[in-house]
Amino acid sequence: MQTLLSELKTIVGSAQVLTEGELSAWTQDWRKRSRGKALAVVRPASTDEVAQVVRACASFLTQHPDSGLGIVPQGGNTGLVVGSTPDESGRQIVLSLQRLNTVRSVDVANLTMTVEAGCILQTVQEQAQAAGFWFPLSLAAEGSCTIGGNLGTNAGGTQVLRFGNARDLCLGLEVVTPQGDIWQGLSGLRKDNTGYDLKNLYIGAEGTLGIITAATLKLYPQPKARLTAWAAVPSMEAAVQLLGLAHQHLGASLTGFELMGQFALGLVARHFDHLRVPLFQESAFCVLLENADAESETHARSQLESLLEAALTEGCVSDAVVAENLTQAQTLWQIRESIPLAQAQEGLNIKHDISVPVSAMADFVARTDAQLAQAIPGVRLVNFGHLGDGNLHYNVQAPVGQDAAVFLREQEARVNQIVFDAVLAHGGSISAEHGVGSLKVDHLVHYKSPVALNTMRAIKQALDPQNLMNPGRVLRLSFKR
Ligand SMILES: Cc1cc2nc3c(=O)[nH]c(=O)nc-3n(C[C@H](O)[C@H](O)[C@H](O)COP(=O)(O)OP(=O)(O)OC[C@H]3O[C@@H](n4cnc5c(N)ncnc54)[C@H](O)[C@@H]3O)c2cc1C
Repeated sequence: MQTLLSELKTIVGSAQVLTEGELSAWTQDWRKRSRGKALAVVRPASTDEVAQVVRACASFLTQHPDSGLGIVPQGGNTGLVVGSTPDESGRQIVLSLQRLNTVRSVDVANLTMTVEAGCILQTVQEQAQAAGFWFPLSLAAEGSCTIGGNLGTNAGGTQVLRFGNARDLCLGLEVVTPQGDIWQGLSGLRKDNTGYDLKNLYIGAEGTLGIITAATLKLYPQPKARLTAWAAVPSMEAAVQLLGLAHQHLGASLTGFELMGQFALGLVARHFDHLRVPLFQESAFCVLLENADAESETHARSQLESLLEAALTEGCVSDAVVAENLTQAQTLWQIRESIPLAQAQEGLNIKHDISVPVSAMADFVARTDAQLAQAIPGVRLVNFGHLGDGNLHYNVQAPVGQDAAVFLREQEARVNQIVFDAVLAHGGSISAEHGVGSLKVDHLVHYKSPVALNTMRAIKQALDPQNLMNPGRVLRLSFKR
C-alpha cells in the first residue's frame, strides 16, 4: 500500500494525502454511529487529478486483487446512512471532493449553471440568486453538504413536491468512471433521447458506480413572493386533507408542505429555547406551508388566506399564522430544520426515512404507532417530514427514563421490522431520500424485489467489475473481485 500512497502523493501533492493525525472529520459519520479507519484521505483539486487517483487505485487493485482497496467518495459528510465514511479495515481511501468547488458557468438563456461537485449547496443557491435565479434544492444540511453528495444520494429536501428530487434538477454530469476515464456529459440539454440515460445511473448510486466531478443544474426564475404559513392540525388525516386543499388553492405555487409532530416540536422547544414554537402544545401536528408566487406578494397572501379560511371551515386546521415578513418566515423554517438537531441533542434514536403514497399515510401512521406502542410500552415517536412527498422521518425514541444506547441495542431490529413491514404493506419504500449506505444494505435484501436487486447487481458488475467504488454500500455483491 505504501507504493500506492507515494503515487497518490505525486498526483495530488503530499499535503493532500492525509494519513496521520485527527481524521475523524472524514472517518466518522454525521450521526456518530460509525467511526472507520482510512488508509488515507485524498484531496484532489481537479477532475483530472480525480481521474489519475482512480486510475492508480484501479491499477493497484488489478495487481493486488486481495488487498481490499476501495475508494469512498465524500462531499460534506452529512449523509445519514453511513455511506461516505470508510469501514474499519484501514484499506479504504476517502476521496474528498471538497477542493473541486468552482462554479464553472451560468448560462442565463438556457437557465442552467455548471458547478463542480465539491460546491456547498448553499453557495450554489447564493450564486444562482446573485445571477437572478432560483436553485430550489433545499435541506437543513445545505450549509455543509455538497452538490456531488446531493446528486450521489439523489437528495430530496423541502421543495420536492414542486421541483422534484436532486435528479430532477440535473441536466448533465461529468463523471470519473471506476477505470479512471472521464465521461463528459455536462450537456445542458432538456431533450436527448440517444440511448440509456447514463446520468440517471450515477445519480442516487451513492458513489458505487463512479465519482461525480461536476454537474449542470436547472435554474428557475425567482418568484415575486415566498410566503410561509404555520397551521395546527388535529390529526394525520387532517394534514392529508389540508394538503389536498393546498394543491387545489395554490396549484404550482405550493412549494413546501412539511409536517411536524407534537413530540418533535417539543424537542425543539426544549433544546433551542431561543426559538418560540407556535401552536404546538394543543395540536397533534403542525404543518409548514410555502406559497411561491409568480405574481405578487398581495396575490400570494390572498391565496394563502383563502386556503386557510377553507381549511378552518372544513375543520382540518384549528389555528394558523401567516409569516408577516421574511424574518418571521425564516424563523418558522428554522424551527422545522432544527428538529434533526434537537433529536441529536436528545440522544440516539432509531431513525427511519420512509415513503408511502400520501393516500396511505394516515393508515400507515395509525397502524404502526399502535403496533409499536403495544410492542414497547411508552415508546416515543419523533414524527416529521415532507408530507407533500409522502415522506416521513418516522423516528423512534426510547421511553422516558430508558438508556438510549441500551434501547437502540436491544430494540432496533424489532422496531425496524415493525416499521419496514408496515411500509411494505402500504406500498412504500424503506428509504425515501437518505439512500442505503451501509446502514440499510441488509434491509434492502428483504424489502426490494429480487428482480430489481439482480438488475442493480448486473449494472454494478458491468460498470465496476473490480468493486473499487464504495464497496459494501447499497448492495451486497455475489460477484468476486
Ligand atoms: C441536519 C441534516 C438534514 C438533512 N436533511 C435532508 C433532507 O431533507 N433531504 C435529504 O435528502 N437528505 C438530507 N440529509 C442528508 C444529507 O445531507 C444528504 O444526503 C446530502 O445530499 C449529502 O451530501 P454530502 O455532500 O454531505 O454527501 P456525503 O455525506 O459526503 O456523501 C453521501 C453519499 O454520496 C456519495 N458521494 C458524495 N460525493 C459524491 C460524488 N462527488 N460522486 C459520487 N458520490 C458521491 C458518498 O460516497 C455517500 O455515499 C440531511 C442531513 C443532515 C445532517
